[in-house]
Amino acid sequence: MVLADLGRKINTALVDLTKAPVVDEKVLDALLRDICAALLASDVNVMLVQRLRNNVKKSVNLNELGGGANRKRVIQKAVMDQLYELVDPGVQPYKPIKHKANVFMMVGLQGAGKTTTCTKLASFYQRKGWKTALVCADTFRAGAFDQLKQNATKAKIPYYGSYTETDPVAIAQEGVDKFKADKFEIIIVDTSGRHKQEAELFEEMKQISAAVEPDSTIFVMDGTIGQAADGQARAFKEAANFGSIIMTKMDGHAKGGGAISAVAATDSPIVFIGTGEHLHDLDRFEPKSFVRKMLGMGDMSDLVEKVQDMKLDENKNLMKNIQSGQYSLRDMYDQFQQISKMGPLSKLMGSIPGMPTEMLAGSEEEGGKRIKRMMCIMDSMTDQELDGDSKVFEKDHSRVIRVARGSGTSVHEVEEILSQYKRFAEMVKTMGGKGGLLNNMPTDP
Ligand code: GDP
Repeated sequence: MVLADLGRKINTALVDLTKAPVVDEKVLDALLRDICAALLASDVNVMLVQRLRNNVKKSVNLNELGGGANRKRVIQKAVMDQLYELVDPGVQPYKPIKHKANVFMMVGLQGAGKTTTCTKLASFYQRKGWKTALVCADTFRAGAFDQLKQNATKAKIPYYGSYTETDPVAIAQEGVDKFKADKFEIIIVDTSGRHKQEAELFEEMKQISAAVEPDSTIFVMDGTIGQAADGQARAFKEAANFGSIIMTKMDGHAKGGGAISAVAATDSPIVFIGTGEHLHDLDRFEPKSFVRKMLGMGDMSDLVEKVQDMKLDENKNLMKNIQSGQYSLRDMYDQFQQISKMGPLSKLMGSIPGMPTEMLAGSEEEGGKRIKRMMCIMDSMTDQELDGDSKVFEKDHSRVIRVARGSGTSVHEVEEILSQYKRFAEMVKTMGGKGGLLNNMPTDP
């Protein structure tokens, strides 16, 4: 079961709970049965699922709770807390320090996405203003250096590697020394992988680690490997003692549950997830926002960061409005336009709070079409309507009918967009303004 489906299943179970006339032990058990079945189908380790179930049961004492609404809230909170815990080991990952050389060593099996992730990570830090470089110490895979060189050149990131030197330890050492001398702040070392965990690979990792003394060792794991994640993560933890994890290939059909289990198996935080093959397809991982997004609840901070990263002049007004807590229909239109430019849609759609999970369903192409249709409907609105909020439509329903006719759609569809807008505007209002989260976001990772 892919993650979006897992989210939908859990969401449905939670919504069913709110509809139950009486909340008793039987209803709670049914809810937990549905949630646990969904987690197991997504390859989350059976022990973790069992623990989640027991913890929810322990923290909810139905006899001590009052009426129906209160019971439902307590149960929902207990489930959410346990879902957060599932992906949060409570360990802080390494935070790079400015004006100092921070060495990252990447480890993982061949094909996990290590080389791709190295450039994505370097580009992430570069966009945030860090002086960043890449070192290719993968001498095992033919073409690894060429691949890194190509990616690094495209992303305009300085790199170091060799076609002739066969000792990965020597290359790693030379590269890191060179970039340290040149006052680079983030130095990312790509190491060799193998097709499977084997002694030779682990020995090489230990030697490179001893030579470059990384500030942070990051385990790059294929998010699609399911149940095998547990054992693989444990083996790498033992050999390389990594501090954090990057899960790749979380786009498409990744079940993700196996990778989630790896967090628990190694008590190591996931710091980023790879969501595609392109340079920008790397999302910072934050347990709460991950779970909220998975359940279709959206996460504004993620979206705002993506928009900020684009550093486009045309975003200025939009950002100003969002941060001041104001939000017009035109802002939503502009946002759709930005999202269309940012490439793969569904990843960003998940960041929009209130965006129903149905919007995320289907392929990229379908998602793109849906957004285009919404924009097409909004094209039939007047400037005055776009610059205002949805109230003018509530006061005068003939406007809704006019827009539906003008765009060749239905009244129902126009109303859907307006209610979407209302939910989003409400969220912007609470998150913007001086005290809001958006104005108090950390700028550094
Ligand atoms: P390495 O052997 O670990 O260095 O793996 P590579 O970086 O060469 O990646 C192996 C394959 O996985 C390549 O085809 C990458 O484009 C692909 N890949 C890496 N990360 C992701 C990701 O997050 N999503 C998807 N869909 N593909 C990825």
